Amino acid sequence: MSATLASRADDIVTSAPRVKLTEIFLSIQGEADSVGWPTVFVRLTGCPLRCQYCDTQYAFYGGEWFSLDAVEQKVREFGVRHVCVTGGEPMAQKHCVELLERLCNAGFHVSLETSGALDVSHVDARVARVIDIKTPGSNEVARNRLENLDSLRATDQLKFVICSRSDFDWCRDFVNSRNLVDQCTVLFSPSASQLEARDLAQWILDERLPVRMQVQLHKVLWGDTPGR
Ligand code: SF4
Repeated sequence: MSATLASRADDIVTSAPRVKLTEIFLSIQGEADSVGWPTVFVRLTGCPLRCQYCDTQYAFYGGEWFSLDAVEQKVREFGVRHVCVTGGEPMAQKHCVELLERLCNAGFHVSLETSGALDVSHVDARVARVIDIKTPGSNEVARNRLENLDSLRATDQLKFVICSRSDFDWCRDFVNSRNLVDQCTVLFSPSASQLEARDLAQWILDERLPVRMQVQLHKVLWGDTPGR
């Protein structure tokens, strides 16, 4: 190959869309609508938020670049139908939306776990979006991008991680004042080590709140082990 052709080939390789990955692994989906399904998790590196309860701080830095082709190939190799693109905050990466679309085109059931701080309006409609609403107890409530609530889909899931009784009251008022339960699934989770799941369950029952409570199944199974 001539030097010019070699350099053009290099350009093509380096300009191919790619994402920075912290890890890719097979596990049981522990949350949201697809809980229980064997799922490939594609964890993208980096997050602009700093929630006080974050259990994936190891994804803030580092990571390795992979082309979208390589990611799709790795997902295929696991041989399951469900794939979850998560982080960190996956939407902070330039080619996340393209990755999601490719995985949908490849026939996977695709979900996205996102902080709710960034625009999700251009995510492929086939993707089940699990969008966090950050509570005051997270220390990142100011980062909620409320415009995301203007374009909710029935397949979306709004997830509240609740740290205390005052957080619960805030979430209840947030959900009721915006009529969110009529638009999509609303998930309430206790912040692990900060709120007893049983207390949250009782408060939901006492108030007859039409929200869906969840605990993290993967933590029941494997604790805080990364990559599980
Ligand atoms: S948005 Fe998620 S990954 Fe980012 S700091 Fe909060 S909990 Fe951690």
